[in-house]
Amino acid sequence: MEKIPTLSYIRPFVSTRNACKLCSPLGACIAIKGIEGCVPVIHGSQGCATYIRRYLISHYKEPVDIASSNFSEETTIFGGEANLKIALTNVTNQYQPKAIGVATTCLSETIGEDVASQLSHIRNDSTNSNLPSLFTVSTPSYQGTHLDGFHATVLALVKNFAKKLPSADKINFFPGFVSPSDIRHIKEIVADFDLKTTILPDYSDTLDNPVWDQYYRVPKGGTPISELEKMAEAYASIELGVFTSVKQGGQNGGKEISGASWLESEHSVKNHQCILPIGMNGNDALFDILSKVSGKDIPVKYQMQRGRLLDSYADGHKYIFGKKAVIYGEEDLVLGLCSFLDEIGVEVVLAASGANSGKLQKKIIKHCPEHGKTIQVISDSDFEQINEACNTIKPDFLIGNSKGNYIATNFNIPLIRVGFPIHDRIGGQRITLLGYQGTQKLFDKVVNAMIEYKQNNSPIGYKYM
Ligand code: SF4
Repeated sequence: MEKIPTLSYIRPFVSTRNACKLCSPLGACIAIKGIEGCVPVIHGSQGCATYIRRYLISHYKEPVDIASSNFSEETTIFGGEANLKIALTNVTNQYQPKAIGVATTCLSETIGEDVASQLSHIRNDSTNSNLPSLFTVSTPSYQGTHLDGFHATVLALVKNFAKKLPSADKINFFPGFVSPSDIRHIKEIVADFDLKTTILPDYSDTLDNPVWDQYYRVPKGGTPISELEKMAEAYASIELGVFTSVKQGGQNGGKEISGASWLESEHSVKNHQCILPIGMNGNDALFDILSKVSGKDIPVKYQMQRGRLLDSYADGHKYIFGKKAVIYGEEDLVLGLCSFLDEIGVEVVLAASGANSGKLQKKIIKHCPEHGKTIQVISDSDFEQINEACNTIKPDFLIGNSKGNYIATNFNIPLIRVGFPIHDRIGGQRITLLGYQGTQKLFDKVVNAMIEYKQNNSPIGYKYM
């Protein structure tokens, strides 16, 4: 019998086990929901749209309509243009949207759909004269995360809509992938600096509505397209996050660019970038930028918030100093949290992300002067890797989304829920992390989680701190 060659020299393949990232068009849909009157269409099979809807509804606790071009076996072989045309017509008739954003999926990308050309054919078809503005974004999930989809959509929006229109002395603000509550807090801060601002994207209302007296197919709110069009004439941009760029012009050697950096290079709109402002250092950087851009001193209200935060650091220090934390999530969130924990004396023993920009470690070292060099960083990670790592590093608590709850349960330690998704608690959309105020809430949560843990596990108990 012929001997079967041994394959023992090949490293055993380890599949992703419970990915620490989400699907790319999911991020695109969140950004599209931040545009006034805009409806997302997923160009692919219904299952993709259903999964995304289920995830968004469970986190935001709002109705989230996402259409699909409903690929079948036939569409997969012969192409999806006819289906896309039907989808756009149906969405136009049923929702009367101001714009439709089409995000691709793994399937439509794999068969090489040229959606930009398809939209142009559909637009030129005289039977579709009532179609609203259309734009598309390429979101192949097999080569990116939900954040790549989110930032690619922000870039597609400015490229499609920003024109040389007078902007009435406005600035652009790119908050990144933060909670609706964080966006509302950013609006409050920029207004207190008397800055007229276009926020892109703004899903602070569309994904966190007040109670309705009637059903709205397209929720109110979002960045008005008329404001989006003026972004090229703003006098500055502020961009939160340093992992906001997506590759353009091919994966190999393509240029990395974000919506804000594109406006800077194409339209000379000066971009001021900082990390997600979580913690004292992150917020000091943001407030310095705001002061510089507005020409105004930091309002007393925020000086007071900063002072109270600093005071609470002193009050809570003894309960958290030297505690070991594991952080996971999107790279910008992980970096912001690392910076915050570094300044309050918590030892971050593992910083993990499902993304793989290749820059996370370097940024952590830069923004965490105390312990940055000793933080173990895992990129392209999954939850099983984090779970296994916890066996040796024995953390005192985790910070991240609800998908890590089973790890916290395994090790009987607290999970401080932040980010997306939070499927097992109410209020994920109302968690504020940004600003001195958001940091204050997070700091209190961290300290109280440690006190509660001690209280619950103390044989004698205690009442006073
Ligand atoms: S097939 Fe791709 S695009 Fe569709 S849900 Fe899965 S990861 Fe997302």
